[in-house]
Amino acid sequence: MAKKWSLPPIESLRADGLRIADLDAGGTPGFEGDKNEGLDLLTERTAVLSDLQEKLYANGRSGDARNVLLVLQGMDTAGKGGIVRHVIGSVDPQGVDHASFGVPTEEEKRHHYLWRIRKALPRGGQLGVFDRSHYEDVLIVRVHNLVPPEVWEPRYDEINAFERELLDQGTTLVKVAMFVSLDEQKKRLRERLDRPDKYWKFNPADIDERDYWPAYQEAYQVMLDRTSTDYAPWHVLPADRKWFARLAITELLIDALDRLKLDWPPARFDIEEQRRRLAHA
Ligand code: AMP
Ligand code: MG
Repeated sequence: MAKKWSLPPIESLRADGLRIADLDAGGTPGFEGDKNEGLDLLTERTAVLSDLQEKLYANGRSGDARNVLLVLQGMDTAGKGGIVRHVIGSVDPQGVDHASFGVPTEEEKRHHYLWRIRKALPRGGQLGVFDRSHYEDVLIVRVHNLVPPEVWEPRYDEINAFERELLDQGTTLVKVAMFVSLDEQKKRLRERLDRPDKYWKFNPADIDERDYWPAYQEAYQVMLDRTSTDYAPWHVLPADRKWFARLAITELLIDALDRLKLDWPPARFDIEEQRRRLAHA
């Protein structure tokens, strides 16, 4: 058995009362093991996640409207793509619904900011993942004054109401804000310039965004303070150690799926009768 958590991430990553400015992005809250122990546990837990996700998918196929939506937020290089590739990539792709949100297209700009979000919501049985989300509309939009304060200010309450609506429709939200340190971000950006297999991830504008770090910290803090609700709480994830980020999100997803108390859908036919038929087929 691999080393376990001393405090589950659902507790150790709670956003309530947390100041981002005080966060140690290199920390591993709730887990005392080292990288090797973390990776051993990750192997174990990935199998559990995969099994639960298959159950979710099976129930969806049988008409269950419930689903789980992982919402990933974080600055560039925080590792959102790595979570999608490694954690979400470990489950059956038939049951995964992935969406990423970049600068709104011309068409998207003509609509309410939640329009493109609603279109991308997972259906019953799906494990949805949002790489960025409606929260960009109170993050980059706020930091760069893309719309005036009287436009973005009401969005916090609007987002809470929207997420309440999602819950009522059967969606369990798992919201994770990933934080890397400025140093680690620099290292990861440098790697994107040093490695031909990473050029595609590099965006010159990411360097400019580093100047806005304090403004982003403030925007993230307000986001956590105003949109971490009891029905859709935020989790704050120190993300300098990729293995920890993957392990923690795997646990958060397991926890969300466990709470659905899923079983395999029952047979909708008479098993004995079908056995007899098959014997003579
Ligand atoms: P990436 O995730 O690296 O593909 O970058 C996507 C970029 O789109 C990021 O810089 C986001 O901040 C930006 N973005 C996402 N949503 C919005 C939005 N609603 N308004 C403006 N920029 C956005
Ligand atoms: Mg980027």
